[in-house]
Amino acid sequence: MSFRIGSGIDFHQLITGRNLWIGGISIPHYKGALGHSDADVLLHAICDAMLGAACLGDIGIHFPDTSDEFKNIDSKILLQKCFQLITNAGYKIINIDSTLCLKEPKIKSYIPQMQQAIADVLLLQTTAISIKATTTEKMGFVGREEGVSAYAVILVTSSN
Ligand SMILES: [Zn+2]
Repeated sequence: MSFRIGSGIDFHQLITGRNLWIGGISIPHYKGALGHSDADVLLHAICDAMLGAACLGDIGIHFPDTSDEFKNIDSKILLQKCFQLITNAGYKIINIDSTLCLKEPKIKSYIPQMQQAIADVLLLQTTAISIKATTTEKMGFVGREEGVSAYAVILVTSSN
């Protein structure tokens, strides 16, 4: 059995008139993330980490933002598709660690729901999915509430 790691990073602008989807759940807020899909920054970072661990390219290759098929799509569907891709390639997820960077809203109370939403798609225990959050101490685009970013690392095993 061999081990592999993958990393993912994603960014989205925050604008009024959009729903804020993070970690597979909708969070009440006066701004939401702008994107072709539901713009779930955390799920996109996790998707890229999964694809990276299996050396299967990135989310933009598999789900182009020029395709109507993926317009406003629930990113849990993209997560499911990535899970299928790495499963088919013989990989099994050990754990995920992730960090969200955003100023508002405070998401601590939503983390258990996010863990559950992700666990349901990836068929994992919630303890295998770590989600942390940080502000950027009022600096940069996150500090100005112009955007949100997420980072994810994944460990997988290969049966190959
Ligand atoms: Zn994204």
